[in-house]
Amino acid sequence: MLNFEGLQAHVTLESALKIQQENIRATKMNQRELTKILSKKINLPAKKTRKLIESFGDVISLAVSKGEKVTYSNFGTFYLVNYPSKVINHPIFGKKKRTVMLATNVVKWMPSDSIKDLVNHHLQTENVTTFGAAKTIREAKKKAGIAEYKALDISKAEHSALIEIQKKEKEPAPEEEITEIPIRVIKKDWTDLPITHLDTPVRRTTPFTRALSQVEYIDLSKIQIPSTILCLVPKEIAHRTKVVPIDLKDEILIIGMTDPTDHEALDTIKKLVRKQISPRLISEKDLTQILNRYDMLGIESAQATTKPAETRQIDWKKTTPVSRVINLILKRAVREQATMIHFDTEDDDIVVRFRIGDQLLDKASLSKSLHQKVLAHFKRLVDQSEEKNGVTRQLFSLNVAGVPEEFELIGITAVDGEKIVIKTKNRLKELKKLTEIGFRDRDYQAIIENAPRPGVNLITGQEDVGRAGMFYALADFYRDQNLHVVTLEKSPALAVSGVSQIDMNKIPGFDLNATISTLAAFDCDVLMLDSIPGAEIFNQILTLFAEKIIVISVEAYDSITAITTLLGTGINPAVFAKKLNLILASKEISRLCPHCRELVKIDSKTVRQIRDILADLPADERARLRRLGSHFYQGQGCKKCNGSGHIGNTMMLELLVANEKIRDLIADDFDAEKIRKEALKNHFTTYAQDGIIIALIGEVAISDVLPEIK
Ligand SMILES: [Zn+2]
Repeated sequence: MLNFEGLQAHVTLESALKIQQENIRATKMNQRELTKILSKKINLPAKKTRKLIESFGDVISLAVSKGEKVTYSNFGTFYLVNYPSKVINHPIFGKKKRTVMLATNVVKWMPSDSIKDLVNHHLQTENVTTFGAAKTIREAKKKAGIAEYKALDISKAEHSALIEIQKKEKEPAPEEEITEIPIRVIKKDWTDLPITHLDTPVRRTTPFTRALSQVEYIDLSKIQIPSTILCLVPKEIAHRTKVVPIDLKDEILIIGMTDPTDHEALDTIKKLVRKQISPRLISEKDLTQILNRYDMLGIESAQATTKPAETRQIDWKKTTPVSRVINLILKRAVREQATMIHFDTEDDDIVVRFRIGDQLLDKASLSKSLHQKVLAHFKRLVDQSEEKNGVTRQLFSLNVAGVPEEFELIGITAVDGEKIVIKTKNRLKELKKLTEIGFRDRDYQAIIENAPRPGVNLITGQEDVGRAGMFYALADFYRDQNLHVVTLEKSPALAVSGVSQIDMNKIPGFDLNATISTLAAFDCDVLMLDSIPGAEIFNQILTLFAEKIIVISVEAYDSITAITTLLGTGINPAVFAKKLNLILASKEISRLCPHCRELVKIDSKTVRQIRDILADLPADERARLRRLGSHFYQGQGCKKCNGSGHIGNTMMLELLVANEKIRDLIADDFDAEKIRKEALKNHFTTYAQDGIIIALIGEVAISDVLPEIK
């Protein structure tokens, strides 16, 4: 007998599935949108609505997980389907490799007839989603001209499909055909699941579960672990073993781990701390959070951080690998802003010394037996070293707190053996705004007014870092003005977004002349060069970019010497003078240690000198400075600054704004003194003035400022 209804259902199911596969609707509503809509519909605050949805989900999840069926009339039924494990052909290797599908529980939702009608007939009714309103749907169907019968009986079809599946599962699995331990490979994350065997497993308490049951769980989200405890396990080891120290009680170290049965990790930690350890089970989330804290603290090693800062000698364990020792020394050097690291051989030791400021300080001593190893390690760090007159120099980089730092290795073959000096490369690390560099008030106003004018702006100073800082700050400034900036650089130190940077070193056979011509025809508003081009090219730039902005970085002491340097290349003074706009100059100066600076008295001669320097400032600026008082500071020396009174460097700035008179002076007979005098009348802050200003606010010592002034 032909079961028409059943056949139709089957056919419809098949075609429905086909449609489903071919045409999955991509629109998706997320929880936020659902909350918003619901909240509006039932006129309940969003917060309460979210709670309601969550509770609804919770109740259903809980009931279904217990095997209960949850039926919400006119909406549908949530139920649990259990697919027992079975042997299938491997999805990739086919019959050759039989695979076990693990027993799985799947939650299904069987929609109610009204939902199905709604979905399939796109009924437009206002209250159709109000459950229990079957009548509304019926009316809507009638209105739409849909007959009152079940057009798409998915429930029946699905039911028979389920019966089919269940029938197949009852057939005995062909166990003898299985040749290897099957692993699920259909989905990547499934491979993590424990493998279930086809035969009923004998319940046994394995060491795994026993150990697990004895370990106490600890919620670390409520506990703040002091950094002194975190230091007990170095960051690298914590990351590798996934073990974090929690507390130290009666010489027993309490540690947290996500897998307390990881004996290898336990052994590593035991050996490391040389203490008794007591593991606790922690959540994956807590572990990640603590490992992140390690990264923020920059804790690298127990040795380097548990020792107080004043301890100059690092007590290296003989077993510590040389590479680790050296990495720690280099990292510490960067942290302490050392400019040089010396490895000196002395009697029985290698003494490691840092040059910080103008002092050479003993920092660590290594056993002399390590000497050859240290040498060998450095030779490995550098790819190939160039040797010249017994001195080798080579750049290498190393990650320090996640930031690559550059070092220069200088090897010296001395009478008593090989000596190693490492120079830390002080590179520009971040983009700063002009105001952050220190151009403030009237100086910044002058830059805003003059920098966007067509013409030539110079950036100068003797230190690469200072010039690079101003170069990128200015590039960024122009970019903010919606100008298209193109830079021509040799190995850019920074990438400035929105600025077209051309690395001249990276282009084989780079032709500056040809590039300039191309750029002139190109849509470029600002052309920036990180070094002085030859006179011929400079003249070409002045012609081709006559209506555009040109910025050139010139290595010179101050703004006046920058002009001299540029004129020295043989450019036409008259043409250059006509175009000159601004000159920004910077000079490095030691920054006072904020921890130990104290007020100092200055003698009357210095007071007079300061007064003379400030006399050139406009009256309102002088009045503003007077309000700061006349206090000057001096570093006393403390542990934080290694007794030097200084920590790092800052800049003294100079700004020259060209006017017609200055331009005439440059073009006619270049007289530095006349230009200086004229410039002072017209927004020109000198190193001396800026130095005094930053000395007044306690950033630098006045005794450091005055000798720096020519
Ligand atoms: Zn200090």
